[in-house]
Amino acid sequence: MDFLYHIHIMTLFPDVVGDMLCESILGRAQERDIIRIDCHQIRDYTLNKQKQVDDYPYGGGHGAVMQADPLYQCWQHLCDLEGERVHTIYLSPAGKVFRQADAKRLHQDYNKLILVCGHYEGIDQRFIDECVDEEISLGDFVLTGGEIPAMAVADAVCRLVPGVLSDPECFTDESHWDGLLEYPQYSRPEVWHDRRVPPILLSGHHANIAKWRRKQAILRTRDRRPDMYERLDLSSKADRKLLKEIADEEAAQEDNVPLTTE
Ligand code: SAM
Repeated sequence: MDFLYHIHIMTLFPDVVGDMLCESILGRAQERDIIRIDCHQIRDYTLNKQKQVDDYPYGGGHGAVMQADPLYQCWQHLCDLEGERVHTIYLSPAGKVFRQADAKRLHQDYNKLILVCGHYEGIDQRFIDECVDEEISLGDFVLTGGEIPAMAVADAVCRLVPGVLSDPECFTDESHWDGLLEYPQYSRPEVWHDRRVPPILLSGHHANIAKWRRKQAILRTRDRRPDMYERLDLSSKADRKLLKEIADEEAAQEDNVPLTTE
């Protein structure tokens, strides 16, 4: 069957990863055959009785390294199944840090991926040199295995596939799509622990609500992620007006701060 997107995950823990990705939105999208995520046990591709997939590192040092051949046999089997060399990603702390732009690129450029999860001290470089097209990191930290990063990549890519979410606005309105963080969200009740929902959100005035949300998104991005804020294009007339409003409001707030008397 042809799915809009098909992801193969090579892992030592296929049950855990598969269970997680079968839940909720991605689970429903798989039930509807829009996407498919298959998890493959690397140990099934070993030639030894113990199904051992790792060995000591050449040159010494602690830990174990995942051997090239079981990975290669699994990878080759998947490419044979697909009838093509499938774009292959190794999840690695030494890879390029994953961003929303990568999720967009992987969704646009491919309709199949193989994600390779390492474990122990990592995987034999020769498998990477021969079979891997890119290395992706979840961030500047080290995890025990590539399963959580693979689930994150699979989730971020699959939710962009048409039909997985009810409406494209579900993701184009979210943090990181256009370089902004999302505005704050509120749901019922209107008052909770004496905290009120901002009255504008109860006004029913869609244009004013959209303006308020954009302003909050700009403020959040400026305060929390100055690196993202620097890259924003806020040169439109509407944004320049919002920036002026923000500056005026902040100046007024400063003026209202009572002077301390010594
Ligand atoms: N020795 C490796 C190093 O120092 O770069 C770390 C190996 S790590 C303990 C085991 C596996 O977890 C890696 O092979 C990789 O698949 C995965 N992993 C760990 N941290 C990761 C990260 N930040 N992003 C993506 N994958 C990661």
